[in-house]
Amino acid sequence: MNWKKTAYGFAVALVLTLITAMQMQDSQKPDMVELAGKEQFPFSLPKLPFAYDALEPSIDAKTVDIHYNRHHKAYVDALNKAVKGSTSQNKDLDTLIRTAGKLPASIRNNAGGHWNHTFYWSILRSAENNPGPSAKLIAELTKNFGSFDEFKKQFKEAGVTDFGSGWAWLVRLPDGSLQVYASHNQDNPLMDISKVRGKPILACDVWEHAYYLKYLNRRDEYMDNFWNIIDWERVEALLNTN
Ligand code: MN
Repeated sequence: MNWKKTAYGFAVALVLTLITAMQMQDSQKPDMVELAGKEQFPFSLPKLPFAYDALEPSIDAKTVDIHYNRHHKAYVDALNKAVKGSTSQNKDLDTLIRTAGKLPASIRNNAGGHWNHTFYWSILRSAENNPGPSAKLIAELTKNFGSFDEFKKQFKEAGVTDFGSGWAWLVRLPDGSLQVYASHNQDNPLMDISKVRGKPILACDVWEHAYYLKYLNRRDEYMDNFWNIIDWERVEALLNTN
């Protein structure tokens, strides 16, 4: 074998390895919340599963950049500071979330902030070639809310309701039924203190930092455009797994 053939062989192998690695990274997207849940001190910012401009025009690149690199990172940094040297230092993120009511506000808020933002990024995708919800998912939502539009209406109402900062959630209750829920601050439906407890299926961040640069105070418009950038395959997978 001459050196040219050997070099060519290496180049082909390298390209194939890179392609495989890229595909693996893509297929790991559904697991980023699970991975974050198993994480313990020191916590870190997970990789954003899309480019900053991927959600344009529904959410502008600058908002995604600042939301991820400053806001989400601030929750991660503050969480590390809050748990360092405490009994929470050896507990994973899911455990901190599920026992939030017994923990200081600094841990409850920042563990929630880290978990919620990781979840938010994981259920978003580009509007381009977005197939929308499957007939099966629409049927499931219709069974629970009467119609797909009624579900959207309730979800939006939860998000625009008169409270300062929080999240709108679609939650699967322990009996398998679906419910819309609005949480304050960085609380979520997994927390022991949550009025509605269950598995998060979909979430919309309605803190001003999630939309203000583009929409100013028009939270309702942000929520209307939010429907275009939902990764419905991911939502359906969450609904149909434990
Ligand atoms: Mn946020």
